[in-house]
Amino acid sequence: MTTEKSNSEYLKACGLIPGGVNSPVRAFKSVGGNPIFISRAKGSKITDIDGNNYIDYVSSWGPLLLGHAHESIVEAIKKASEKGTSYGAPTIAENEMAELIIQMVPSIEMVRMVSSGTEATMSAIRLARGFTGKNKIIKFAGCYHGHGDSFLIKAGSGAVTLGLPDSPGVTEGTAKDTLIAEYNNIFSVEKLFNEQGNNIAAVIVEPAAGNIGVVLPKNNFLEELRKITKKYNSLLIFDEVITGFRIAKGGAQEYYKVIPDITTLGKIIGGGLPVGAYGGKKEIMEKLAPVGPIYQAGTLSGNPLAMAAGIAMLKFIKENPNIYNDLEIKTSKLVNGLKNNLEKTGVKGIINRIGSMFTLFFNDSGKIEFFDDVMKSDKEKYAKYFKLSLETGIYLAPSQFEAAFVSYAHSDEDIEKTIEASYNTLSKLN
Ligand SMILES: *Cc1c(COP(=O)(O)O)cnc(C)c1O
Repeated sequence: MTTEKSNSEYLKACGLIPGGVNSPVRAFKSVGGNPIFISRAKGSKITDIDGNNYIDYVSSWGPLLLGHAHESIVEAIKKASEKGTSYGAPTIAENEMAELIIQMVPSIEMVRMVSSGTEATMSAIRLARGFTGKNKIIKFAGCYHGHGDSFLIKAGSGAVTLGLPDSPGVTEGTAKDTLIAEYNNIFSVEKLFNEQGNNIAAVIVEPAAGNIGVVLPKNNFLEELRKITKKYNSLLIFDEVITGFRIAKGGAQEYYKVIPDITTLGKIIGGGLPVGAYGGKKEIMEKLAPVGPIYQAGTLSGNPLAMAAGIAMLKFIKENPNIYNDLEIKTSKLVNGLKNNLEKTGVKGIINRIGSMFTLFFNDSGKIEFFDDVMKSDKEKYAKYFKLSLETGIYLAPSQFEAAFVSYAHSDEDIEKTIEASYNTLSKLN
């Protein structure tokens, strides 16, 4: 296997684009080596510019529930593009998309389309602040909500609960309005509410965390968040950019039966095109311009190509309700195979999974429930595993702290091949 062409394009890219990539995690910084350049993809497979084929578990970081270049989505985009690519005026497709989202996601009575998950979360907290008249938000260490300033905040030290900028360019002024709590630790949330509950506009959470690898909510964590936000007249925001339409038709809120005030969506709802959305109760959503005073806008929001792809995706889900059952069976088969391999090879690992998303942590903590558990994982072992997997034609995320995604297009044969390849790979790790 050679990756000569990828290597030379990457060198060229590094002179043109910062770090050679348009989103940092695409660079292989945390696993070493150079990223591979993709030329095309179909179903469960991607092909690089040197002609190597891989079974893909990155799935564009989540959007591709049906796999690459699904016929119904490609057709929908083709058809829409012939009628014009953007109008900056309303279309029937936007009504259709909104209706599908409202039908399928329990908490959403009204929805606004945007063009990325980042835009959705940024807008959602502005809406929460505007609606409640309060300034602060609580987020959880390790949860990712896109690259908006208010989310690039880390915990302050010791007794100080003020957040600190986690990137140059984020001001202390912004940081002081983001409070950091610990995922799965309701006491850390209660503490913040006790101290400054009257000024907390919202708690934003990934209901099942996916951006530190998969970490599931435990001990009624989500129910407790629902209770405490209600008690303080603060809003609960579920960031379902990954989990929406991934773990169930109605996302984590359907799966865990906890209803947030605002939900943010992205990834799957765009069918692989740039889309985000946020929605919730009518009385909250109607505070948005032009009906209400809270401003938010977008030249390409509700773009006809993006709507066509999203509608095709959501319609497919609606018309094939077996899809989540199918994904559950396939992914549990894969994860059971991987667990057997860990046992047989003696490699220490823990797999967290929900539906078709999972993470294999190289970690011997016993279980992974907190961000601190996650951080004990062996990144070097993962880097080796990643590289060896790539050589055997399995494309995984180039970081230990990500989810793997199985799509509807992954076949039994893909799953079996992956289990076999992982056995050989794990055998070489000890
Ligand atoms: C990917 C992601 C985002 C950001 O979405 P972009 O489309 O990359 O801006 C926000 N929240 C969560 C939970 C995500 O996984």
